[in-house]
Amino acid sequence: MKPVAFAYARPASVGEAAQMLAAEPGAKVLAGGQTLGPILNLRLAQPALLIDIARIPELAAVGEDADGATIGATVTHAAIEDGRVPDPTGGFLARVARGIAYRAVRTRGTIGGSLAHADPAADWLSCLSALGTQVYITGATGTRTLELDTFVRGTMETALAKDELLTAVRIPRFSPRARFGFHKICRKAGEFAEAIGVVAYDPESAIYRAVAGATNGRPLVLALRAGVAAKPFTVAEAEHMLQSMRYAGDAYERQLHAAALRRASELAFAP
Ligand SMILES: Cc1cc2nc3c(=O)[nH]c(=O)nc-3n(C[C@H](O)[C@H](O)[C@H](O)COP(=O)(O)OP(=O)(O)OC[C@H]3O[C@@H](n4cnc5c(N)ncnc54)[C@H](O)[C@@H]3O)c2cc1C
Repeated sequence: MKPVAFAYARPASVGEAAQMLAAEPGAKVLAGGQTLGPILNLRLAQPALLIDIARIPELAAVGEDADGATIGATVTHAAIEDGRVPDPTGGFLARVARGIAYRAVRTRGTIGGSLAHADPAADWLSCLSALGTQVYITGATGTRTLELDTFVRGTMETALAKDELLTAVRIPRFSPRARFGFHKICRKAGEFAEAIGVVAYDPESAIYRAVAGATNGRPLVLALRAGVAAKPFTVAEAEHMLQSMRYAGDAYERQLHAAALRRASELAFAP
């Protein structure tokens, strides 16, 4: 199938894009097109207007300071993989980016597009939930900042209003002693995950989080108590964590998610 006929606009600024979104109820934002392209071809979306944000300079901007890094919404997975943007995790972001799809998809797909689409199986959703990420949003009438777990409301559902764009993500800086693990279970390399486990541990800022992703909903985030040892989880511990997260899958799915968590912890705490 081919898309329905649509108008196409390439605004020069975020403000102009937000005004276009507000003015045309049938408008849709186009970033890397890696998800939207197939959706249009299948006619699952039939927009009157596509607003191409890929070349808006503000959205490609990156920056860092002592507390963290800001990564513009249209920064591609490949740019992160290649270390072309600041990485306040000391290399963890690049490792996660490398596992997303194939290089061709990573060259076009954007971090903002991935979060705005909010597919529970998307790698950034789980990874960035573990890091305490904030999301910057601009609409026709102003800007706001949300914690990622407030931004994502459910499966492919976010807090974005019709006239709003996700403009950037803000990731806090971790200390050199921080440990991270990310493991996704998928049938073929480069595919979306059936289960994702993430562990983020930073003794200097008392952060210790475990995340179960690809769970048919928002990523499940568990703040581990100070007393939990920074070492690979046992099977029983991983299963107990899923219970604490109120994970509701069947026995097979629970086993997959427990394995993903356990392997993420092994990667985080490998000697
Ligand atoms: C074959 C294949 C395999 C893939 N495998 C994986 C995988 O293993 N892991 C993974 O995480 N992802 C995977 N993806 C998805 C890929 O990572 C895309 O980058 C991502 O889904 C969307 O990013 P995009 O920039 O292409 O967004 P688009 O396709 O352009 O847009 C996606 C949606 O988000 C909206 N949108 C985009 N940007 C913004 C914004 N800034 N503000 C508001 N709304 C916005 C669009 O309107 C649209 O609804 C795969 C994709 C393909 C085609």
